[in-house]
Amino acid sequence: MHKVLLVNPWIYDFSAFDLWSKPLGLLYIASFLEKKGCEVLLLDCLDRYDPLLLEAGITPENRLYGTGKYHAEEIRKPGAINSIPKRFWRFGMPVSCVRNILRRTKEVDTVLITSVMTYWYQGVFDMIGIIREELPGANIVLGGIYAQLIPDHARKRSGADLVISDNNPCAVLQELIIGKDKCLSTEGFYNAYSPAYHLYDKHSSIAMLTSLGCPFYCSYCASHLLAKDFLFFAHEKIIDEIEMYTKRLQVQDIALYDDALLYRAEDHFLPLFEKILEKDYRIRFHTPNGIHARFVTEDVAAMLYRSNFKTIRIGLESSNVAFQNKTGNKVYNEEVEHAVSNLLKAGFSRQEIGIYIMAGRFDQSVDDTKRTLEFVRCLGVKVFISEFSPVPGSFDWRQDAHFKNMDPLWQNNSIAFLRNGWTIEQMQKMKDIKNDINHSVVNS
Ligand code: SF4
Repeated sequence: MHKVLLVNPWIYDFSAFDLWSKPLGLLYIASFLEKKGCEVLLLDCLDRYDPLLLEAGITPENRLYGTGKYHAEEIRKPGAINSIPKRFWRFGMPVSCVRNILRRTKEVDTVLITSVMTYWYQGVFDMIGIIREELPGANIVLGGIYAQLIPDHARKRSGADLVISDNNPCAVLQELIIGKDKCLSTEGFYNAYSPAYHLYDKHSSIAMLTSLGCPFYCSYCASHLLAKDFLFFAHEKIIDEIEMYTKRLQVQDIALYDDALLYRAEDHFLPLFEKILEKDYRIRFHTPNGIHARFVTEDVAAMLYRSNFKTIRIGLESSNVAFQNKTGNKVYNEEVEHAVSNLLKAGFSRQEIGIYIMAGRFDQSVDDTKRTLEFVRCLGVKVFISEFSPVPGSFDWRQDAHFKNMDPLWQNNSIAFLRNGWTIEQMQKMKDIKNDINHSVVNS
């Protein structure tokens, strides 16, 4: 039997927080490989409940609704960003625990490593180096978002035997691991398999998808590259998954990582959640990826409330209409005002609603960002700042020439704004205003 180890590596960054994060792509692949008869093992360095962590005396530091802090160890900053006056961390399991797991995992044929942010590549490389030492006979395959967005960098530098840059890895895996067979389409793949959550010992929450991709083309986003077609998953399959998560895994919090959960709500979100409500599951839902204000009608807001959504995030990015027009028209100010009004009318508290705004994009001024913060202050709900990160392959990437020849470490949202003419003090000032707004909302 072909033995496959799936690995979700560490995060190397200035900061990180577990906002219901799970390696969903890897878990779908796990399920696919199991069905094809492989023996599948999982090493998730970001699993805060791994028994080895508990044995090492590292207990999960939890926050609201299953979110929490990762274990972190300070590491030396890579040379390319050595001048940044901030501390740099390895988030996740200590290296000694990882080595222990690998030593116990003998005679693995293939190791599949996933990757997320392009600027976390150093953690992926270190993981590949350790796997080479501990499992010298294994074939190492690297996939995930980093591998898809900058495959040449991954091929030249990662040390993996194979880099998968296709967004439907089914064909490659089939050929590599289990021999040539009929390959499913992306839609067929996602409707045939569910994330293999049974590979974990314990769950504080679950991340899931009810759709793939996004019908919008925002200039700063790479969603259209990572999922070429937008598709809804079958409702019966989604309900079966929720049934399993709540009944068998006893989960109370589910984060929906859809990019466009409310798009064509009459066809998808509304009928789907009507069926979910009939089941009376008693779970809380969260939308960490943000929802589209445009689609938050009175009916949708009422359904979100009745279905027990507890974390509502709306993507605004900027209240500057010129910005909204040139970045893809995904939202306008009056749509956000309507959405917030509908959500409040439906019963949500102001603390449960948060607006994402962007800061530090190459043509965004500090004053403009302040105006956006003040726009949200007037709405009376929370605000969250997403510091701009240049995403390879996005439309912005083509305009923002100075990042192209720089180390991908500079794509990190914690520092990319420095290359766009912002200072650390200016960004801090925006965060101070944000904190002030949120403090007023919490105390309102
Ligand atoms: S930012 Fe959101 S709405 Fe825009 S393309 Fe990306 S996922 Fe879609």
